[in-house]
Amino acid sequence: MLKLSGKPVYKGIAIGPVVVLKPHGQQIKRTKIENIEAEISRFAKAGEKAAEQLVKLYDKAVGEVGEASAAIFEVHKMMLEDEDYLEAIQNMIRIEKVNAEYAVAKTGDNFAEMFAGMDDDYMRARAADVQDISNRLIRNLMGKEEIDLNSIEPSIIVADDLSPSETVQMDKKKILAFVTVHGSANSHTSILARMMNIPALIGVPVDLEEIQTGMQAVVNGFLGEVYFEPTEEICCQAEDKIKEELEKQKLLQILKGQENVTLDGKKINIYANVGSVGDIGYALENDAGGIGLFRSEFLYIGRSDFPTEEEQFQAYKQALQMMADKKVIIRTLDIGADKQADYFNLGKEDNPAMGYRAIRICLKQPDIFKTQLRALLRAAVYGNLSIMYPMITSVEEVLKIYEIIKEVQEELEKMQIPYKLPEQGIMIETPAAVMISDELAELVDFFSIGTNDLTQYTLAIDRQNEKLDDFYKPHHKAILKMIGMVVDNAHKCGKWAGICGELGADLELTKEFLRMGVDELSVSPSMILKIRQSVRAIVVF
Ligand code: PEP
Ligand code: MG
Repeated sequence: MLKLSGKPVYKGIAIGPVVVLKPHGQQIKRTKIENIEAEISRFAKAGEKAAEQLVKLYDKAVGEVGEASAAIFEVHKMMLEDEDYLEAIQNMIRIEKVNAEYAVAKTGDNFAEMFAGMDDDYMRARAADVQDISNRLIRNLMGKEEIDLNSIEPSIIVADDLSPSETVQMDKKKILAFVTVHGSANSHTSILARMMNIPALIGVPVDLEEIQTGMQAVVNGFLGEVYFEPTEEICCQAEDKIKEELEKQKLLQILKGQENVTLDGKKINIYANVGSVGDIGYALENDAGGIGLFRSEFLYIGRSDFPTEEEQFQAYKQALQMMADKKVIIRTLDIGADKQADYFNLGKEDNPAMGYRAIRICLKQPDIFKTQLRALLRAAVYGNLSIMYPMITSVEEVLKIYEIIKEVQEELEKMQIPYKLPEQGIMIETPAAVMISDELAELVDFFSIGTNDLTQYTLAIDRQNEKLDDFYKPHHKAILKMIGMVVDNAHKCGKWAGICGELGADLELTKEFLRMGVDELSVSPSMILKIRQSVRAIVVF
């Protein structure tokens, strides 16, 4: 048995087989080859295998997600047959006498760079596809099997690190736990693990060459420990703990349908944070009063092109219909920093957290923003929608958003497409927004405080940097004072203010939030009943 420790980001216990995900960014060595024809034939075989894989992926995707979404695999197959691409690789092998892996990697980089530099949006987005194809060929050349996470039995995923885009693509029913070598507790991958109710440990010093797919493991998210090839005793203890947790969950079930009201009669809304329509089931199971944060950017990541207006409209409409008349607050695209989609071609930045992200992209590239806004306004007809804008720092930004909204309304009217203008609010997640929250309150319908970024920007701590986790202190007086100030400024204007950052779920602060007059807490679905339990035992004043 091998026991390792790490930092838990979601408490829970898991027992099951391990799937090891090796890092993608494999170092490709350049080696000199003697037999050119053998190398060309090795490359041809890798290509044939890739073509077979893509046909299988296409057939599977057609059945699961429909023809439109599956079409990407056809595009990949066409690229794989592109003569310029194939010739470039073969020529490099012949002329430079290099190994096929190196020729593919170099050619893939050159083609991706060429696509990324094109004017046409569609062609630019192909940069990510050519990289995908090249990686597939390299994996085949190296004899590395691609693990299809959708066809594994429920497993404990062990990886160096996981990006949000990798995490959202996984079928949640197939994941028992995450164990990663790197990662920060405040990253979106950790947030996703909490939203998905999945025990997760980060900072675990796993040797990915030593741990094998198929080994058994126990993850204890309470103690921050993982046991590979555990003893029978450890397995029995874990099974007992799982039963104990299930009992606790059952006890919480009696709180379903009960009000979120303190012993002295103060009420608060408890809503759910979700990353996709698929998560809404968890919100309903846990009796969420509404959706306080629908992170719409997850519709954009983990794919190779922009979601169309129709795709977005269908997703938002479904979310609204599932929640019936309950409030659903959809946040507009908050891409950038750790949430990346290659086809946006955001480029490398020295300080991505303080860079080109969220509303800044939407205001600079209004076509992308307008597609989303049209989908949102059309969907608003089907339920109780609110729109929320991320990363606001100024009054001017809000006014600019309203100009764009007006244009969208005019377009929809001209085309006689039914729509509704929903309630519009902003996230307060920059110190600038806090300081001018009195002015902003005049302009918007509500505030939702994003404590994750507010902590990052106030304390000057990169939330992605795992070395700084100990310095990331959302209980800092500055943060609590800011929350109080924002709530007061909202109330002075007759507006409401909630918290949708992770701090909203911090049971140590529930009483303080109630005292400040916070109107809503939006948290991971699994925390809703726990907070209700705590609220119902509190005397605020
Ligand atoms: C926040 O910053 O607190 C927030 C809720 O947004 P995100 O975590 O997605 O940046
Ligand atoms: Mg944020």
